[in-house]
Amino acid sequence: MKILVVDDDPLTLHMVVYRLRQWGHEVISCTDGESAWKILEGGMVPNVAILDWMMPGINGPDLCQKIRSKKDCPYVYIVLLTGRNNPEDLIAGLDAGADDYLTKPFHLGELEARLRAGKRIVDLQNELISARETLRIQAMQDPLTQVLNHGAILDALLSEINRAQREHQPLSLILADLDSFKHVNDTYGHVAGDHVLVEVARRMRNCLRSYDAIGRYGGEEFLIVLPNSDDSQAIGLAERIRTAVGSEPFRLHHVDLTVTLSQGVTTWTDPDSIPLERLIQSADRALYGVKHSGRNAVQHVQFDQDAEDSFSPIFVSPISGES
Ligand SMILES: [Mg+2]
Repeated sequence: MKILVVDDDPLTLHMVVYRLRQWGHEVISCTDGESAWKILEGGMVPNVAILDWMMPGINGPDLCQKIRSKKDCPYVYIVLLTGRNNPEDLIAGLDAGADDYLTKPFHLGELEARLRAGKRIVDLQNELISARETLRIQAMQDPLTQVLNHGAILDALLSEINRAQREHQPLSLILADLDSFKHVNDTYGHVAGDHVLVEVARRMRNCLRSYDAIGRYGGEEFLIVLPNSDDSQAIGLAERIRTAVGSEPFRLHHVDLTVTLSQGVTTWTDPDSIPLERLIQSADRALYGVKHSGRNAVQHVQFDQDAEDSFSPIFVSPISGES
């Protein structure tokens, strides 16, 4: 474990540090509360802190409280070293946030046993953190394609709309739909269809920048959010995606199957507020245009806050081949 030891008594400090290193721990030590706090503020995150109670300046319980007030750091298991052993003092120490205490002079075997107890807590804490992280990812991810799920991509869109407004940056959206996907499912079965979805999502993801977001919007529909992208950048990216998906066949049951994508693209540049639904509608209209003009293409519609039902596509990519 990584252990921080703070004690103004050089003899105790030396003895504890020496033993801890002997037991295989990584140890950082100092002789007063201020230096310890500086070390912690500098980004060092120990698993365990062993703090002397009586120190000039910031004492053990004060340091305890400061560590507990740091909300952004993982749990630190704190053991107070004390010459005091009346119940009121011990209650005060535990109330300050200490997990355990040792009364000086203490037996080294006792310190070792207390650290074993501390390690169990630290291990449990780490397991909890990683389980929570796994749950968080599961709650956001489409289990099949590993891209964001419907709710999470809408959340991502909402926060990018807010950012675009704040920073006066353009924002583009791609709504992509696999062409004739029902035919794949009907001909090769749904397991094969799932393989195609997974591979399509992988190819699309590979085309994106690290700060773009992609999610599964519906069965075979994907929504891509492109922060800080104008119309030409978004159309360029949609074309790269179209090539990545459609140019190399998918191998299914020893059959080479070519799958193509239709994509509707929209860009928002107006500093006025954008209702999320209207932006998706705009991309949807562009997609509708592609679907009705032969598929396997990209069409762009400039987002127009005032346009209710009409739309005028300003770009249609060359339609290559059949859907
Ligand atoms: Mg002391």
